[in-house]
Amino acid sequence: MYEKLELLIDGTWRQGSTGETEDVVNPATEEVIGKLPHASIDDLDQALGAAERGFKEWRAISAWDRGDLLKRAADILRERTDHVAETLTLEQGKPLAEAKGEILRSVETIEWFAEEGKRAYGRVIPSRDARFNSFMVTEPIGVSLALSPWNFPIITPVRKMAAALAAGCSVIAKPSEETPGTGIALARAFIDAGLPAGVLNVVFGVPDTVSRHLIGSGRIRKLSFTGSIPVGKHLAALAAQHMIRCTFELGGHSPVLVFEDADVDLAVKQIAGFKYRNAGQVCISPTRFYVQDSIHDKFAEAFIAYAKSLKVGDGMDKATQMGPLANRRRLEAMDEFVQDARDHGAKIETGGKRMGNKGYFYEPTVMTDVPEDARIMNDEPFGPLAPIARFSTFDEVIERANRLPYGLASYAFTGSTKTAAKLSGALETGMVGVNSVNITMPETPFGGVKESGYGSECATEGLDVYLNHKFVSQAGM
Ligand code: NAD
Repeated sequence: MYEKLELLIDGTWRQGSTGETEDVVNPATEEVIGKLPHASIDDLDQALGAAERGFKEWRAISAWDRGDLLKRAADILRERTDHVAETLTLEQGKPLAEAKGEILRSVETIEWFAEEGKRAYGRVIPSRDARFNSFMVTEPIGVSLALSPWNFPIITPVRKMAAALAAGCSVIAKPSEETPGTGIALARAFIDAGLPAGVLNVVFGVPDTVSRHLIGSGRIRKLSFTGSIPVGKHLAALAAQHMIRCTFELGGHSPVLVFEDADVDLAVKQIAGFKYRNAGQVCISPTRFYVQDSIHDKFAEAFIAYAKSLKVGDGMDKATQMGPLANRRRLEAMDEFVQDARDHGAKIETGGKRMGNKGYFYEPTVMTDVPEDARIMNDEPFGPLAPIARFSTFDEVIERANRLPYGLASYAFTGSTKTAAKLSGALETGMVGVNSVNITMPETPFGGVKESGYGSECATEGLDVYLNHKFVSQAGM
């Protein structure tokens, strides 16, 4: 059953004050599954007022008690996994098993931050004058704004909300209007665990109107956004007007380097499986595959066979391995990437077109002989397209891997520890997976360099971005 769609303002679940709504569509069937209320400007102002009051109350509660409440919310969410997974799949499309996995990772993330909040340590600094004591204390930064996208409707808001709440901040969250039910279900877990009114508020609307109003109010002290680079730059400019502390996670174009000494079967098994997860709509999705000459054909053959074997369908069907794309925009974008690759001389080995005419299904696609100037080698495809290209030497492939302005994730497969050490130092990305695609865990920092953004989510660093570091110099003790 799909989640009831409501706003959460000052501890109350309700409709928007103007009655304005938008349709939420199931990408597998194109049916309208819910009417999402929009918050009016007055509703947004109420959320700001509530978050300011909530902040005063929440920061005064001890980190241990805040942690206990977060752990209760994690328990509630875990108990509701089946319902929330159904909501997630109905509005976003990914297979139920992937949806459940995302929810369980979210539960773990809340639990991890519940503990980490207890470790927001300050520091005693040896004083240069015996008459003074010098120390640094951490304090929660204030009202935080969490803007999250539609591809991971629960793990992206969780990384923002759990860290902010653990640090003692209050939150105004705007999950994506395309996948709102999951964010609402997440917020219900916190409220049902006993979170005081106003500490967490959830609003929806026209994204630019909502973010302009909230950021422009001057009452937000922290912004965390996950989404595209152009929107990130736009929000960074708005936030700069008020010197708001920001975390931006803006997508990538992850290169995959497969060296001739790699275990090809293992590489394909890991990286092809990862490529088609969430139909490729993943910011850290492996995107450009550079394979060393002597193993190129073997790698490509196994990759193509894997893509052909995938069962694509409605995520609610247990047999489905890859669901639809999340919206019609992605479908159109895939066709443009494929046509452009063809025009540049690439060979479409399998896939390359929409499946059927109802639901946003696209064939798992593999292309070879893809030249470096094809659009797919330069712009983020955010879909189930895998371009494979050849390389000859280490230096050449590192240069090609680093040539784009993106810098989120990269992957490499090699049997040599020397090559592994060299490449992890040379790749200009925030995360590197060597013979592994396991680069996102609650306890490890997640974030990019270059135009992929700044600031980390998860880990100690993901808590620290919600804290001020206050220096106190105290005399006469
Ligand atoms: P988009 O740039 O319009 O939107 C991306 C997200 O930002 C959406 O959730 C949207 O609601 C939100 N958004 C847009 N304008 C906003 C604003 N002014 N204020 C606040 N939020 C705003 O693009 P899209 O069509 O939804 O997705 C296309 C591209 O976005 C993808 O190709 C991909 O590159 C990128 N993307 C990245 C991630 C990620 O995890 N980093 C997630 C989703 C989309």
